[in-house]
Amino acid sequence: MPTTVSCPTCGKQVIWNSKSRWRPFCSERCRLIDLGDWLDESHRISDSGIETDGPSDGAPWPSADASDDTPRH
Ligand SMILES: [Zn+2]
Repeated sequence: MPTTVSCPTCGKQVIWNSKSRWRPFCSERCRLIDLGDWLDESHRISDSGIETDGPSDGAPWPSADASDDTPRH
């Protein structure tokens, strides 16, 4: 009797052998779904704590050639 596991995503019985490429998932799709859920969860957690206001416009430094910048010898 072959060893079987339940697919974590859909609960389908998966035969645990070398032919079951996506074990413990029944298919690549279920594997990606599970991975996607995990990523989505972690993203939600980090998203609540970190505020990203995007790239700033980068205000340039005051121009070096101001009017009072007269060369002195
Ligand atoms: Zn599945």
